[in-house]
Amino acid sequence: MEEAIAVNPWASLAYLVAGVCFILALRGLSSPTSSQRGNRFGMIGMTIAVVTTLVTHAPLLVTNFAEDSYVARLDTVTLIEILVAIGIGATIGIVTARRIAMTAMPQLVAAFHSLVGMAAVLVAGAAFLNPEAFGIAVAGQIFTQSRIEMGLGVAIGAITFSGSVIAFLKLNGNMGGKPIMLPGRHVINLAVLAGILGLVAYFTQDQSPWVFWTITGLSFAIGFLLIIPIGGADMPVVVSMLNSYSGWAAAAMGFTLHNTAMIITGALVGSSGAILSYIMCRAMNRSFISVIAGGFGGDSGGGAAAAATDRPWKRGSAEDAAFLMSQAEQVIIVPGYGMAVAQAQHVLREMADKLKEEGVRVKYAIHPVAGRMPGHMNVLLAEANVPYDEVFELEDINSEFAQTDVAFIIGANDVVNPAAKTDKSSPIYGMPVFDVNKAKTVLFIKRSMGGVGYAGVDNDVFYQDNTMMLLADAKKMVEEIVKALG
Ligand code: NDP
Repeated sequence: MEEAIAVNPWASLAYLVAGVCFILALRGLSSPTSSQRGNRFGMIGMTIAVVTTLVTHAPLLVTNFAEDSYVARLDTVTLIEILVAIGIGATIGIVTARRIAMTAMPQLVAAFHSLVGMAAVLVAGAAFLNPEAFGIAVAGQIFTQSRIEMGLGVAIGAITFSGSVIAFLKLNGNMGGKPIMLPGRHVINLAVLAGILGLVAYFTQDQSPWVFWTITGLSFAIGFLLIIPIGGADMPVVVSMLNSYSGWAAAAMGFTLHNTAMIITGALVGSSGAILSYIMCRAMNRSFISVIAGGFGGDSGGGAAAAATDRPWKRGSAEDAAFLMSQAEQVIIVPGYGMAVAQAQHVLREMADKLKEEGVRVKYAIHPVAGRMPGHMNVLLAEANVPYDEVFELEDINSEFAQTDVAFIIGANDVVNPAAKTDKSSPIYGMPVFDVNKAKTVLFIKRSMGGVGYAGVDNDVFYQDNTMMLLADAKKMVEEIVKALG
């Protein structure tokens, strides 16, 4: 019979309190006004969980291992060493978080997800090599239920790791944002996925090392294969899906380690990530399956060519922009990734304040995938103290462009590209976009005509009669506009 693991009731209570803190953290994070409070709850919950785990496991750390086991012979795990490891990890985390530029946050998040995935693989690997130390085996025979947990845990962990590494490389610009299509990828992916599931089932009957390590190897491969064909408009969904996977990987580890806090936290991250992915799929007009399968609907692998500067376009100056906006009744500002790169949010708010002083109505339009991570623009605008009631979601403001004097696009590109509606071969086809081209005048800030957005495609808005290109770094251009506004 499978042995019951003794659970300290105080530990269970502390984990429950930690779980409640995590739920309050998620609740707080659902709105910019309460997000700081949410973060604090998250930190308190994590401190309770870590301290409880240490306190309840510390006396066992050196004595719990079977005499002849691999770990017992190494005999190296002491509380001091764990604290040193936590110290090293915390120092790396603090230094990285302090140094990281706001624009590099998305790739940092992807890198963190990869670490969660790798941690799941390492825990599952350690449990497989020394199951008795984890209390999941008798006489070397791992319990059936634990084999399922380990098999699934290592598979999800490995997929999260390799998928997140590819997402990191794409977001960091080491790999292009365009989809990379392998021939026959759907067949290969399906075969590998079926192989993994088959081997997890077989693992319940045969715990030979080759079964475990083949599951691990195939899962690393499928994470890589699933993410490389994804590009353009699907990448945001992938980032939130990997977030979800990292949660499920942690939950699986929680089962192996008999740690309730990890199961609760993992399930919360997993399910909230899944809900976010679903919301983003809806916002992007994508089906969940097509995104997971990778690159369905993007078979042309590129769409329109990158910016073709031989088409005629009009260039404007900061003074032109200041004049046009000061005469307007309503200006809608559409921020995008370039605003984050330039860190132009503070001076942008200054510009909006000046316009409001002149009686102009100013609104901000936020696309669900503007920038490089969910909520990227909301965070930046909140940092610049832009009033929340001036910030609107796509579906709430898109119909207003037709009655607006000026659409002011600052560092956005893909999210205002009409090719998403008209060009079936475009990698962003099907994604809802702002109808900025319907505004009376479009002011478009970017650094050069040659630069393209994440999806790497040209944008017809540049060449419209009513568009004035303001070519400069976004922060510099807005500073000049503020000066010109007087
Ligand atoms: P884009 O990436 O489409 O465009 C960014 C624009 O900013 C470019 O035109 C670039 O042109 C300009 N730019 C860059 N730096 C500066 C600067 N310093 N000053 C002025 N302009 C600058 O951004 P969007 O926000 O419109 O779209 C987001 C894209 O990212 C979508 O394709 C989305 O799918 C993808 N994505 C989003 C994620 C998310 O979760 N939000 C995650 C992963 C991908 P130039 O170089 O000429 O200056």
